[in-house]
Amino acid sequence: METLFATDHTRALLPRIREFVQTELYPLETSDYLTGKFSNVAKILDEKRELVKKLGLWGLQWGEDEGGLGLTLCEFGQVSEVLASSPFGHYTFGTQAPDIGNMELLHRFASPGLQHRFLEPLKEGRIRSCFSMTEPDFAGSNPVNLGTTAVRDGDEYVINGRKWFTSSADGATFAVVMAVTNPEAAPHRRASQIIVPTDTPGFTLVRNISIMGDASDHWASHAEVTYENCRVPIDNLIGAEGMGFQLAQERLGPGRIHHCMRWIGIAERAFDLMCRRAVSRDMGDGQMLGHKQFVQGWIADSRAEIDACRLLVLRTARSIDERSAANARNEVSEIKFYVAAMLGRVLDRAIQAHGAAGLTDDLVLSFWFRHERAARIYDGADEVHKTALARSILKEYGLDVRKGVKV
Ligand SMILES: Cc1cc2nc3c(=O)[nH]c(=O)nc-3n(C[C@H](O)[C@H](O)[C@H](O)COP(=O)(O)OP(=O)(O)OC[C@H]3O[C@@H](n4cnc5c(N)ncnc54)[C@H](O)[C@@H]3O)c2cc1C
Repeated sequence: METLFATDHTRALLPRIREFVQTELYPLETSDYLTGKFSNVAKILDEKRELVKKLGLWGLQWGEDEGGLGLTLCEFGQVSEVLASSPFGHYTFGTQAPDIGNMELLHRFASPGLQHRFLEPLKEGRIRSCFSMTEPDFAGSNPVNLGTTAVRDGDEYVINGRKWFTSSADGATFAVVMAVTNPEAAPHRRASQIIVPTDTPGFTLVRNISIMGDASDHWASHAEVTYENCRVPIDNLIGAEGMGFQLAQERLGPGRIHHCMRWIGIAERAFDLMCRRAVSRDMGDGQMLGHKQFVQGWIADSRAEIDACRLLVLRTARSIDERSAANARNEVSEIKFYVAAMLGRVLDRAIQAHGAAGLTDDLVLSFWFRHERAARIYDGADEVHKTALARSILKEYGLDVRKGVKV
């Protein structure tokens, strides 16, 4: 769909990407691949990745200084929407989370030595990575509250802690670990981000956590991980000591645009399946499903909601492009909870329109319904973003909620 935000780049790229996704990836949406382990599909996706490289469509997120097209975040968001219409799109084009966030992080903040060792093979898709911040014993919604420590011992850090929901740890070559290095500092200056290769003694992948009946493996997994006296060189520090939260914020601003545009891509596909069902399901009473007003309501509501969300997200992406992620914080909060909720509604309607078929793994809808409930929790639960947005608005009206008194 041509948007208000179309550019020469998007006009040239999107039809090519759309065609690839539809012809090469949609046929893989069978129950073998949608319900089995991700490793079942990884081999064929590796072949598709080679095709993407041959077509010159790999690394679309890279800046010009990295040999890429230098797409703006607003342009890349539109690419992300098209890739997301298949569960395999982002992985096949090398733009999948958490690697895309780690690539951005290493590109901007890692030393040349770390970039050579970890960033280059990551960009080429030869290795994978993970981001290890959330802990089972501490509320992730308050990220200054971490139990994992990294204590300096000579020219090494010794890391101890327990993490979970370290997505894609299974088979990853390294983890970016958030650990407390400066316990006496102010809360937001206590933690640092450190690279831990997963073959470091003391790194243990305890389990791939089963989520809604599906533990999967490989890239599509979420692991519990322990760090027990893991020793890594102090050179594995990203940025400076105490910069962990700042780096996490830098990573999350653009990351939330990626997620939101991915959700819009999923919602758009669910909408398409719902409309196809509406015109093809004969209700046996001389009417098709689409003759029913309830269904017309789902279609109209979904169309308006997806379009509104796309405009909001691309406006936010443009704000980040023009003013930085820090300055677009309110807009980012707004889209994070608003788009996640829209996705849940549209997927639910599309499943309902398919009746029992919507629940089967013959269609991609149930896969997304299982996997995308998480949208309202990760990268900040809905309530955290709503609270942050409302507080900021109230402050403009003279009420500082944090202080509990009028300013
Ligand atoms: C699929 C998935 C993938 C993930 N991938 C990663 C990853 O790769 N790396 C990583 O480090 N982490 C990852 N996470 C973890 C994620 O970032 C955390 O789950 C999230 O930050 C919430 O933390 P928590 O689960 O500890 O919930 P808690 O902090 O315990 O919060 C529980 C609930 O309390 C409510 N709540 C929280 N704060 C407030 C508030 N201020 N006001 C009102 N209500 C509130 C919310 O409803 C929230 O859902 C992933 C999570 C999921 C589900």
